Amino acid sequence: MNTIDQSKAPFNAATNAQQFALLVDSVREYAMFMLDADGRIRTWNPGAQRIKGYAPDEILGKHYSVMFTPEDQVARKPWNLLERAKQDGSCRDEGWRLRKDGTKFWASVVLTAIHDQAGNLTGFAKVSRDETERHELEEKIRLHARELETAVEERTRELRRANAELEQFNYITSHDLQEPIRMVGMFVQKLMESGDSLSKEQRQRYMRFVLEGSERMRALVDDLLLYSRIDRDSALNGTIDSGQAARAAVDNLAQLVARRSADVKIGDLPSIRASQPQLIQLFQNLIENAIKYGPPQKPTVVISARERAGAWEFAVQDNGIGIEPQFHEKIFVVFQRLHGREAYPGTGMGLAICKKIVENHGGKIWVVSAPTAGSTFHFTIPKA
Ligand code: ADP
Repeated sequence: MNTIDQSKAPFNAATNAQQFALLVDSVREYAMFMLDADGRIRTWNPGAQRIKGYAPDEILGKHYSVMFTPEDQVARKPWNLLERAKQDGSCRDEGWRLRKDGTKFWASVVLTAIHDQAGNLTGFAKVSRDETERHELEEKIRLHARELETAVEERTRELRRANAELEQFNYITSHDLQEPIRMVGMFVQKLMESGDSLSKEQRQRYMRFVLEGSERMRALVDDLLLYSRIDRDSALNGTIDSGQAARAAVDNLAQLVARRSADVKIGDLPSIRASQPQLIQLFQNLIENAIKYGPPQKPTVVISARERAGAWEFAVQDNGIGIEPQFHEKIFVVFQRLHGREAYPGTGMGLAICKKIVENHGGKIWVVSAPTAGSTFHFTIPKA
C-alpha cells in the first residue's frame, strides 16, 4: 500500500537542472542559450550551432551582438533588446541575423531576463528560431499582393480613360450620324406627303437626296466600325516588313492612283513590330489623303523612315494644299473635317483611325504643314 508513485515524486533541484540541460541539448529546431547581464554568451546548444554555425568554443564568451547585422549594431539594436527585456521581463523580436559564414537568416527571438533570489539581474535566456522560409514566403505574398494592386489600379485608370473617350465619342458620333438621318427622313416625308403634286424632276431630286443621305450613313457607320475594331493589342508581337505594308496600301488604292496619275515613292523601310493589317490601313489612309488633297494631276507622295532612339519615325510627305497650323491637332479627331463634301469627299474618320492605330502601337502621330506648302505626316513605332 505504501508504494511511491514515481511520476509524482518531487524533483530535487539537481535532477531538475540536469534534465533541463538534457532537454535543451536535444533541441535542434531552436537556438537556446544564456547570456550574462552584459550580453556575453554563456551557454550554447546544438540548435544554436546548427542555426548560427558557431561551435561552442568559437562563440562562448563573445558578445551576442556579433550575430546582428552592421546596420542593427549601429542602431544599437542588441543593447536595446537587452534593455527592453530588463524593463519588461522579456521581449520578442523578428529580424535578419548573421550566421558565422556571413549569410543572413530571419530570426524570431524571445529574450527573457533572469534574476537571482534577491532580485538582481543575472543574465538572459534567449530562444530563437530560423524563420527564413516563412519570412520569404510572406515577402513573396506581400510583393504579389502589391503587384496585383498596381495592376488593378492600372486597369481602373485605363477603363476610366476609355470610358471618358467613349462618352466624348458617343456625343460626337450621335450628333454627326443624326444629320444624314434627318435628311433622309425629311425627303422621304416630302415624297410621301406631296402625292402627285411633285414634278418628275422634283421627285427624282428628292429620291437622289434620300439615296445620298443613306449612302453617307453607310460610309459613316462603316468607318465607325473600322475605328472601333482597332483593338488594343492584336498581333503586335510579330515582326513585319513595313515596306511591304506600304506597297500593299498603294495596291489597295490602285484606282485612285491611276485616276490621278499619282507618283508614290516608297523609300527603304524597316522591319518593325506591328500589326500587319493595321499598318496597311495606316499607310492607306495617309496615302489616300496625300493624293486626295494633292494637286489635281500628278500628285507626288514620298514615304520614308528614319531611326530614332528606341523607335522608327515614318514620314508620308505630299505636295498638296497643306493645312493651317491651328488645325494641326483637330484633324485627328473623329469626324473633324476642314472642307465641305462638295470640295472633297470623306467622312472625317481617316486620321482618327490613323491616330488610334499609332497609339495602339505605343507611338505618336503629328503633321508638319502650312497652306500651299504641302503636308508631311509623321508617326513613330517603338522598337520594343
Ligand atoms: P477626311 O479626309 O475623310 O475628311 P481625315 O480624318 O482623313 O478625314 O482628314 C481630316 C481632315 O484633315 C481633312 O478633311 C483635311 O481637311 C485634312 N487633311 C488630311 N490629310 C491632309 C493632307 N494630306 N493635306 C491636306 N489636308 C489634309
